Amino acid sequence: MTRLVIGIDLGGTETKIGIVEESGRIIDKSIIPTKVFEGRVAVVTRISEAIKELLMNSGLSQDSIEGVGVGSPGSIDHDSGMVLFSPNLPDWTGFELASMLRTLTGIRTFVENDANSFILGEWAFGRFKGCEHMIGVTLGTGVGGGVITHGKLMTGKNGYGGELGHVIVQPGGPLCGCGSHGCLESLASATAVVNMAREYSKRFSRSLMYQSAQLTAKVVFDSAREGDLAATMIVERVTDSLAIAIGNYVHVFNPEHIIIGGGMSRAGDLLIDGIRRKLPRYVMPSFNDTFHVSLSELVENAGITGAASIVFYRHS
Ligand SMILES: [Zn+2]
Repeated sequence: MTRLVIGIDLGGTETKIGIVEESGRIIDKSIIPTKVFEGRVAVVTRISEAIKELLMNSGLSQDSIEGVGVGSPGSIDHDSGMVLFSPNLPDWTGFELASMLRTLTGIRTFVENDANSFILGEWAFGRFKGCEHMIGVTLGTGVGGGVITHGKLMTGKNGYGGELGHVIVQPGGPLCGCGSHGCLESLASATAVVNMAREYSKRFSRSLMYQSAQLTAKVVFDSAREGDLAATMIVERVTDSLAIAIGNYVHVFNPEHIIIGGGMSRAGDLLIDGIRRKLPRYVMPSFNDTFHVSLSELVENAGITGAASIVFYRHS
């Protein structure tokens, strides 16, 4: 019988829950609003009810589920499944998420940082599954990172390791959400792209970017594709920053694959071509041809399958 787990992609706005087979196929899923403002107990109670409903609709019992995996934003104590700190979930500091969810559902539960679950998802179900040396970088509201080295998720002493979004790529650069300046996140997240576009609005007031009703990272990338100068300059800053950061990761971890995911990875060739073109400048010749940079192919359901893979990883 195929192994079944539940994957939960806990987001600041919505939470995606799916029943996932060992092959990565999603049997059924539901998307519920997270409603962070209602407080953590209400959020977790709603999630447990959604799990029960999903199981009922699929004719499955709790006993048929091997475990629940939760990909959560923030710093996670992955042994206890406690959320230590999460900027998007303000009242969750020190919250024993795994323990509460296990009590409510009767199913054992594991929690990981969402960027770690992204790379575990690639390890379990992605194009290069099983690869023992891979790095994941997620470009969304923030920039997340996860490192698999020698087939193991690198967590560091406290479980905070792999914060690839907070390597400094431009000393004295833009202020980052973490309080530092010039982190990769402050130059290559969707938030950073929009901030840069706002900054350029006086100098390039006639740019295509400002003709859309809402200024988003997608608008910036679409404008660059049309040949818009200001938008192209922003995309260049983003790919420069990513190339510098990835060059650093290559020297530190000697990975075989670097996989870019997250919502902004939909910018596709515009991102990947720029990174590939610039990377050789930042990498020692001995590392040439030792690594590949590619885009995740799991974008649509990556959150759910990544969270599910936490359970498969812990029990592989
Ligand atoms: Zn930072």
